[in-house]
Amino acid sequence: MSVGTLVTMVEMQTLTRDIILAHCTQEYPLEACGMLLGDERGVSQAYPTRNEARSARIFVADPADVASARESAVSQGLNVVGVYHSHTNSEAFPSPTDVAQAPDPSWFYVVVSLARPLAELRCFAIRDGMVTELMIGEPEPSGGLVS
Ligand SMILES: [Zn+2]
Repeated sequence: MSVGTLVTMVEMQTLTRDIILAHCTQEYPLEACGMLLGDERGVSQAYPTRNEARSARIFVADPADVASARESAVSQGLNVVGVYHSHTNSEAFPSPTDVAQAPDPSWFYVVVSLARPLAELRCFAIRDGMVTELMIGEPEPSGGLVS
């Protein structure tokens, strides 16, 4: 594949990852979810939302929280660029349900697994039912990637 617009990498600071991991760990044994704010290069902020389903198996991001996340993004000149959620008992990989319900082919999908003592965080693109893992890179202050 040589399509230049296909994203294979996502910029995300360690701090943002830590915020996502902390939220997911805090909600355990329930699934946690939240929105990702940023731009086409990557995620600059995590916006925790309540899991309306209050479930260990599924998540439904609280619509009021999602609206707040959108407002926060707009007020900062950012976009909602994805969503994160935890898997309490399975791998850090999108489930068939996650793939079927993925709302936007341009979004970043972060999945955290808490199935083992060491939490794992991975990021994916989901387009036309196809899952592609994205490498996570630390952005430089200038916005470029550390090579
Ligand atoms: Zn899932």
